[in-house]
Amino acid sequence: MAACDALGGAASPPAAQEAAASSPQPPAPRLADAGGVRAEVDAAPCLGCGAADAQVVRGEGACQERLAAAGVRFWAHRPAPEPLGSSGVMCHLADGVLLHPEIGGVRWRWLGAEDRALVVDCALAEALLVMSRWLAARGVVSVDHVGTYHCRAIAGGDRPSQHAFGRAVDVRGMTFARGRPVRVLEDWRREQTRSGRLLHELAEALHRDQVFNVVLTPEYNPGHHDHLHLDLTPGVHFLSRGELEVLVGE
Ligand SMILES: [Zn+2]
Repeated sequence: MAACDALGGAASPPAAQEAAASSPQPPAPRLADAGGVRAEVDAAPCLGCGAADAQVVRGEGACQERLAAAGVRFWAHRPAPEPLGSSGVMCHLADGVLLHPEIGGVRWRWLGAEDRALVVDCALAEALLVMSRWLAARGVVSVDHVGTYHCRAIAGGDRPSQHAFGRAVDVRGMTFARGRPVRVLEDWRREQTRSGRLLHELAEALHRDQVFNVVLTPEYNPGHHDHLHLDLTPGVHFLSRGELEVLVGE
């Protein structure tokens, strides 16, 4: 393990974020052009191949092989399953990896613990790579998130959240190289602004191109007023729009 080997821990309140002005944006390709759907990640340009510090561990599964081929830095991770309360469900990672927070040219900052690796199922790692490329093409340099793997149930019930399997991430915002940070809490409702447009276009693209199976926005319910919940619930294709809707997977 190298520099970013601290793991786990609860997320802390958002760190202070700096403000500045925005930069010109390059033409932004669709997700499918920026790295393809997850199954096409292996055909994408190698991002870190040959780098001396590309501490890639080639894993056993095809997903990890694709990650390695894409130059993503990660470590195979096999934590012991843990019980989800008294539900009988065991939280676990089917194909676990510790993901270096630099993904596809974007820094994934775990608020309150910014240098920590992301604890994820490999399928989520591939989705984050595709999402990172989409964001990087629009000038985003970092994403602020508040966690991936977390052994917990969906709020208000005992069904396991996709977080319990390392197949979900909560995104609070993102930053450009210059300019004020984009924050879901404030900017989702400002659709006419650059920041608001970015958030709405991101949610639409992640849904349309099936990078994630579930995209929950502040429109889903009050519990999501300050973040986008993105997950890989099997057999679902859902984006919350407008009035409240009911769904599994959060
Ligand atoms: Zn979530």
